[in-house]
Amino acid sequence: MRTIKADHGAQLRLLDVQSIDTALAQLEHRRQTLPEHAEINRLRAERAAVGSDLVASDTAVSDLEREQQRAENDLQPVRDRLTRNQQRISQGTVADPKALASMVDEVEHLKKRINDLEDAELEVMEQLETELAGREALRARAARLDAELATMSAKRDAQLAELEADMTERRSERSELTPLLPPELLSLYDKIGASHGGVGAAELRQRRCTGCQLEVNAAEIREYQAAAADEVLRCEECSRILVRTANSGL
Ligand SMILES: [Zn+2]
Repeated sequence: MRTIKADHGAQLRLLDVQSIDTALAQLEHRRQTLPEHAEINRLRAERAAVGSDLVASDTAVSDLEREQQRAENDLQPVRDRLTRNQQRISQGTVADPKALASMVDEVEHLKKRINDLEDAELEVMEQLETELAGREALRARAARLDAELATMSAKRDAQLAELEADMTERRSERSELTPLLPPELLSLYDKIGASHGGVGAAELRQRRCTGCQLEVNAAEIREYQAAAADEVLRCEECSRILVRTANSGL
């Protein structure tokens, strides 16, 4: 491992950059995994299902309304004919007894026909009533889901705004720190971080690398103790930049 040199104060500032980067990664993770995201997706799926149920219900309602209209249209001429016949019978204008008898028969027949048609229409009306009630329930559910979605979206947006503000603040802290670091140190840090879960630099604390959590062996400790303060150390295990602090136990 090629060693580079950097002022020890710059190495300590690198740890500050690392802690900002770790915080930024956590904020980004929270931003992507807000429980509101999943809840909004669930509500949207439910709302879409209710939406297609509503389309189906609208179709069923108009089909039944048409059917009821057709039943009503079928009834009208039969009712008219019955009224006409009843009037002629009661007015006594039919002189021929045979014709009168057949007219009385027809009245009975028409009454029965009207009964049948009315029964059929009533059945359609009952179906229509059920369908209308079902559609009302669906509309109420859609309205409830829309309201829940609006509330949940507002909640998500508020959380995102808060996280975004937090991230902006940390990015600005970071941009104040990085110009103070030697470019060579910073680019080594970035390079290691990219392949080590975003952690390029770690504190050597109580003889332990806080990047991989492994204890440093005695031989390495002796090397670290002998190393100049501006020498940039690397963990033998995880190869991260290892920064000595007052807590290193050296
Ligand atoms: Zn390590």
